[in-house]
Amino acid sequence: MSSCDKCGKPAKVNLHYNATALCEPCFCAQFEARVRQANKDFKMLRLGDRVAVGVSGGKDSGAMLNVLAKMAPAIRGLELLPVTIDEGIDSYRLPSIKCAQELCNSLGLPLATYRFSDHFKAMDDIIALRNRKKAKKGSPSKNRRSCTYCGIFRRALLDRAARELDADKLAIGHNADDVAQTFLMNLLRRDEGKWESFSPSSGGYGGFIPRIKPLIYNPEAESPQYCKFKDIPFYECKCPYSSESFRGEAKRFLNSVEEKFPGSKFNLLQSYLSLQGKVEGGDKKPGRATKCGKCGMPSSGKECMACMLLGELNG
Ligand SMILES: [Zn+2]
Ligand SMILES: [Zn+2]
Repeated sequence: MSSCDKCGKPAKVNLHYNATALCEPCFCAQFEARVRQANKDFKMLRLGDRVAVGVSGGKDSGAMLNVLAKMAPAIRGLELLPVTIDEGIDSYRLPSIKCAQELCNSLGLPLATYRFSDHFKAMDDIIALRNRKKAKKGSPSKNRRSCTYCGIFRRALLDRAARELDADKLAIGHNADDVAQTFLMNLLRRDEGKWESFSPSSGGYGGFIPRIKPLIYNPEAESPQYCKFKDIPFYECKCPYSSESFRGEAKRFLNSVEEKFPGSKFNLLQSYLSLQGKVEGGDKKPGRATKCGKCGMPSSGKECMACMLLGELNG
């Protein structure tokens, strides 16, 4: 094994994208330093903030919560409020919620759980309903991907949770890969108007809860490594519905480019960050303050996306 490029001790990790080898303490220090840098660059955490933290039981949100808990004592009055969403996907969600609970217990933080089935429908039921409608001849129902339902309902429920917990902002465990993929997908779909919605520090206008992404500089492949070194429990299994997604395709493409041209993903992320402010005026864009006529949550139209999808499924 090679030696650590920072301290010379035996290395434990080889980082392909910048051809460096690191020992365990140097790797963990670098992982945490990236979160601190993102916090600084995008002014994410402020004194006295109440921060709802989306925790899924997966590698990214587990690593994020652990680093935020380490940073918290230095930010006076900062409170972390972990939230987990149970989408109602049998076989997949229960073990991951157990991991989220274990981590919160070890950090001495209470975990709030919000269920799709209490507010919408369980994902398994949503997919069964969609498939039945699809099979029915002449059905007007749109052929939507499972990730569309899951993503929109999860987003709506996290917003609701943050609101009910009286949080100032919501931290999401999206990593550098996630943001690079989203950027690529937006380019391929010409969704320029949505650039703001996946920025590292977004929202806070029109009644939406501001969202922060403390892992924006952390490559996805490093989260499981960090969790293993820090004994953070996480559930690795893939969502059984994820193969239906456009994101899966973007991820495969970016991974194969990265393999041949190391550093490409970081470059794409940086391109997004430097273009974002130019295209939309960054986060300064004033939003319309509209409320959904059905559920009362903030919405960009008369009806929020969650209520619209629910109506479509029930209709
Ligand atoms: Zn070292
Ligand atoms: Zn609504």
